[in-house]
Formats: sequence, C-alpha cells, structure tokens
Amino acid sequence: MSDRMTFVMVGGGLAGAKAAETLRDEGFDGRVVIVGAEPQLPYERPPLSKSYLAGDSTLAEAQVHDDAFYATRDIELLTGVEATALDPGAHRLRLTDGGELRYDRLLIATGAVPRRPPIAGHVLRSVADADVLRAAIEKGGRLVVIGAGWIGCEVAATARGLGAEVTVVEQGATPLERVLGARLGTFFADLHRGHGVDLRLNAGVAAVEDRTVRLTDGRELTADAVLLAVGVKPATGLAEAAGLEVGDGIVADQHLRTSAPDVFAAGDVASALHPRYGRRIRVEHWDNAQEQGVAAARSMLDAPEPYDKVPYFFSDQYDLGLEYVGLHDPGDELVIRGSIDERHFQAFWIGADGTVSAGMHVNDWDSIGPIRAVVESRGRLESIVS
Ligand code: FAD
Repeated sequence: MSDRMTFVMVGGGLAGAKAAETLRDEGFDGRVVIVGAEPQLPYERPPLSKSYLAGDSTLAEAQVHDDAFYATRDIELLTGVEATALDPGAHRLRLTDGGELRYDRLLIATGAVPRRPPIAGHVLRSVADADVLRAAIEKGGRLVVIGAGWIGCEVAATARGLGAEVTVVEQGATPLERVLGARLGTFFADLHRGHGVDLRLNAGVAAVEDRTVRLTDGRELTADAVLLAVGVKPATGLAEAAGLEVGDGIVADQHLRTSAPDVFAAGDVASALHPRYGRRIRVEHWDNAQEQGVAAARSMLDAPEPYDKVPYFFSDQYDLGLEYVGLHDPGDELVIRGSIDERHFQAFWIGADGTVSAGMHVNDWDSIGPIRAVVESRGRLESIVS
C-alpha cells in the first residue's frame, strides 16, 4: 500500500492499540494515527477491578505498550483527544482539539461506557475511575456495590481484600446468574458470603441519598462509597451520528467492515457477524478486543480473514481464577466435573445437538487447553478424558 495513505484508529484502548501495532507488523508504511480520549497511553482494563484497584500493580504494568513502542514504529498517538464527528463520504474526522483528520481507512474502537441508572454512585471503566474508587473505599470503608456481574463481583472481592465492609445488591436470584445460570451463580454467592460480603439478592435500589442507599423494599444501607456496576453500553455515538448502521453496537460483517466504506469496527463496540454462530455477536472481553484489533487491521490492509475466534474470558476473585471459552445458550445442559466444594472444577454446557457449546474451569488451569479444543471442534464431552 502507498505510504501516502492514512489509517486512523478512533479509540486508544486495547483494540485500537493492537490494530495500530498490527498495521506496522504487516508492513504498512503509511501514516498510522490513534485518536484516544483518555490522557494515558492505551492500557488494559482487567487490572482496574483487581490488582490495580488493590494497589498491587501500576498503570505502567497495564499499558499495552510503552512510549518508545509507538515512537519507534512511527505510530502517532493523540491522547486526550476525542473524535467528535465523522464524515464517511469525505473520509474526514473532526477532533476536539480543533483539528481534522483525513483518513483513507478508519477503525472505530471506542469501546463501551458504563450504564448509569438515575442514582448517585461511582462507575468503573477507566484508570481515573479506579483511582477515585480506591480513594473512596480507603477513606470510608463501607462499600455498596450495585450489580453482581463480573465487575461488581471482582470489586467486591478486591474491596474485601482492602478491608472494606462490602454489601452487594443484586436484582437477580444469584450473582452472575445471567451469564452462568443459577447453579454456578449459587457457587459465587457462597464464595462471596464466605468472604464476608453481605449479599442482598432479589433486591433493587430506589435511591442513594448522601450515605444512605434505600432499597426498593424500604430497607436502608449505609455507604461511604457506592459503585454502580450494572453493565455497559457500546460507545456508538460517533458512528450513529455519521449514519452508520448501529444495533447493539456498530453493525459489522465477518471482516469487521461497517456499513460505511473504509470504516471498520472492533472490540466492545462492534456487533460483528460471527461465521460460527451465524449471527452478529458483541463481546465485552479483553481477548476479543485484542484479537479483533488484529483482525480489523488485516481487513484494513485488504487481507481479511473471517473473524471466527471463539469468545474467551477470565476473572479473578479472591483466590479463585476462572477461564471460560465458547458461547452457551441459557437452555444448554450444565455438566460439572471435579469438586465444587473444593473450588476446583470444570463446567461444560451441552447444546441441543449434544456438542459442547462452552466450557469453563475454576482453579484448574491445566484444563483450559482441552476445554478450548472440545469447544472449537464442536466435540462431545465424552471426548475429553476426565
Ligand atoms: P476500551 O478498552 O473501552 O477502549 C476504548 C477507548 O476509546 C477508551 O479509551 C475511550 O475513552 C476511547 N474513546 C471512546 N470514544 C472516543 C472518541 N469519540 N474519540 C476518541 N476516543 C474515544 N475482560 C476480560 O476478559 N476479563 C476481565 O477480567 C476483565 N476485567 C475488566 C475489568 C474492568 C474494570 C473493565 C472496565 C473491563 C474488564 N474487562 C475484562 C473487559 C475488557 O477490558 C474490555 O473488553 C476491553 O477493554 C475492550 O477494549 P476496547 O479497546 O474495545 O475498548
């Protein structure tokens, strides 16, 4: 490709940084620009609810790359700059610093933003959020977490480690019920209660006033800090205003091409057609951001391969680590191998056709290879020797 071409990534998160890196790895010698709203170098978010929030790791350790990496590869990083308008016809991007960028190819990797119910509280998405939340936890010591999804559960665990009193309010019957189902949700309820978390299930929050959290059933909790952990929504504003097709995320094909010519999407913001599942899926996980960043860059270079990676994610809570591969339907049959009581097991979901749709392990690190293999090959559970 011509060295006069300009490829721009909007969004300086993991997907944007990986795409820029891949463009250079693949030999692209045009201009590569990352436009990132946050003031920091691109960084990975998983530590923000775990080691970084605990004060056990630094921002530098979370960075995708250091300064020198971008400099030596001639990747222009516009940090603290937001793209405010996109004109796909003119191939132009307007920026908050007053400038405009003309691009030949554009990747939108704007990620997701926390949902904010109309109640007061902190959210956790950025390193700035994590700093504020840690200070609030350390100052008061009584944390109420609203929502027992991954972030709510991880922050609860980290805050217990910091010595905070933690209450988690969840409208479902168990933590993580929507993702893992009731049986494994009960396992996580026991885990958190065993670590001293006050878990209020089937409970809603009516209001937060000063330091009082009023539940919908009238009961009240006292909080020095409140975390709203009720999910995220894809950051589609720029794309929507530019007339791109947007549903639950920016609509993309299997090569991560959006409805606008020369515009691609990757990471949390992309709702991409997945050949394996025959439908569009949007994945809010670290691995997907990394892999789609790479895949989108190849598509931008006209060397596309269908993006068909099976979703993968991990979580750490207390002394428990887990990895999950695949995508299961709520109706799939759950089979557990190993010991739930000893917190060392594998979980498999079996689809209607008898094959393994997803698998997970808890504290059984050596099993992730066979789990991945059986999911990727659409194998049967019997093919894994227990
Ligand atoms: P992001 O990381 O959100 O980056 C998008 C960037 O684009 C942001 O910096 C944003 O400010 C910027 N931006 C947005 N709009 C504009 C604009 N108009 N102009 C310029 N810049 C813009 N996943 C796991 O698999 N395991 C985990 O344990 C895990 N833990 C997590 C813990 C926390 C606290 C959080 C928040 C996420 C966690 N995740 C985890 C999810 C994972 O971090 C995300 O899937 C990943 O960050 C998505 O990367 P991304 O590049 O798509 O988006």
